[in-house]
Amino acid sequence: MASGKDNFYANWRTNGCAPGLREEAAGPPEKLVQAIWQHQRILRGELKTADGTRLRVLHPGFASAEGGPDFRGAVLQFEHEKPVSGDVEVDLQTSGWHAHGHDTNANFKNVILHVVWDKPKNPRLAIRGEPVVLVLKDYLDSPVSELAPALEQGSGLPDNLRGKCSAPLRELSGAQLLEILNAAARVRLENKAGAILARAKITGWEQALWENLFRALGYKHNAWPMQALAESKSRWSARVATGESRAFEIQAQLLGVGGLLPYELTRSQKASDTFLRRTWDVWWRERDAFADCTLPKTIWKFHGLRPANHPQRRLALASHWLASKNLVSKLEDWVAKQIPDGGAALPRRLAGRQVGPANQKLLESLHEIFTVERDQFWSWHWTFNSVRMTKPQPLLGAARVTDLAVNVVLPWLWIRAKEGGNEKIIREVERRFFAWPAAEDNSILKLARQRLLGMAAGRSSTVLNGAARQQGLMQIVRDFCDHSNAICADCRFPELVKAQFDVARGLTIPAAD
Ligand code: SF4
Repeated sequence: MASGKDNFYANWRTNGCAPGLREEAAGPPEKLVQAIWQHQRILRGELKTADGTRLRVLHPGFASAEGGPDFRGAVLQFEHEKPVSGDVEVDLQTSGWHAHGHDTNANFKNVILHVVWDKPKNPRLAIRGEPVVLVLKDYLDSPVSELAPALEQGSGLPDNLRGKCSAPLRELSGAQLLEILNAAARVRLENKAGAILARAKITGWEQALWENLFRALGYKHNAWPMQALAESKSRWSARVATGESRAFEIQAQLLGVGGLLPYELTRSQKASDTFLRRTWDVWWRERDAFADCTLPKTIWKFHGLRPANHPQRRLALASHWLASKNLVSKLEDWVAKQIPDGGAALPRRLAGRQVGPANQKLLESLHEIFTVERDQFWSWHWTFNSVRMTKPQPLLGAARVTDLAVNVVLPWLWIRAKEGGNEKIIREVERRFFAWPAAEDNSILKLARQRLLGMAAGRSSTVLNGAARQQGLMQIVRDFCDHSNAICADCRFPELVKAQFDVARGLTIPAAD
């Protein structure tokens, strides 16, 4: 394949045929401006903000994948003042600050620098209520036409912005790295189990399980309203009839107490309106009895939620679990039963203590317990307002089962066995925890892989081939990164890693890669 000058496609681009790469264009795409900032392709020693203040970028911050400002946790120094940490927003124009509603959005209150491509057309407007502005166009280290092809490949963290621990971690063998991740994962398992125990001492084991299942169904956005609903379980579950409509009645109570029942019919979706009327028929009779614990709708966060994670749908799922009445005994049977090994094994060179084969069968067997056959409404609708789907969708996907396993089911079974002195179950839960297949990727893991493990893509994905190792990495982020800043100030993790493996040198399994 032709490369360099012979590559006609590359020539199209460098000759200015692609929009946004021409010097004379109104401005490059915002994504490119963000990449220039992230990779600091600017004259770093010469930066001055729009009002003439000297600026030193100690760290540009981490690209945010979850809405809000474009970069979180930047460390900047203005003139000779003390460095400050905060967020950075990137826009093409200063007017974007107001036009995009950042001035009224609470998520943007920690923005300390507004990086823009071009000078404000009207400087007086630019300073009104805005954070300090840096005009990037004035400080590029190369022409845009050169920067664009160079940066489009580099969505990862630049080498010089990796964490201080990335170098010592790279020195470790695969087995040594696993040792750290597994040790951190064990801490995470025990921490979760400890929190469950504290709650179980107050409410009992079964209630503690339900509260944690509800929290997990709330995911990170809605964990607390879900917890509040579970805490009032004894009240709403006591008023539900037995029989075939039990799941539906529980659902009506949950949606009602949760403040999630719409007041308006869609008037366009007949099936939705019929179902909503039926649900209200149940909730009308009950709602006065729950006036003191009904949640306000405003407590829920809907922004950025995938339809599958909508709390209405999650509560429908919980109603089926509750209606079946024997979830706890099913979990007890599950942990006592032999589950044959299956799925992909970790490579031998990574085999170490507490790392068994990633066992797909474990996931499948727990999925069976939590799976709901069919809900007459929710299998066909994402929310009350959505149109009927052409194919029914499961109320629970495999990815969520892994979250339930590592965050709730395994810690709950483990601590119950520990309190009861049941060594056999303790060992079996630990085996399952360390053999559980990897969970879905998330923004914490993505950043940690780059920042701590140096984005050695092949190696990190092999090492993180298991939910426990992912949990371990997240624990390190929580214990160290969350207490430091983007420039790793005062973080002791690198020195701890060095000390641990200097001492243990020769005792650990030698690197095979
Ligand atoms: S804060 Fe500590 S653990 Fe996190 S990346 Fe920096 S050195 Fe590593």
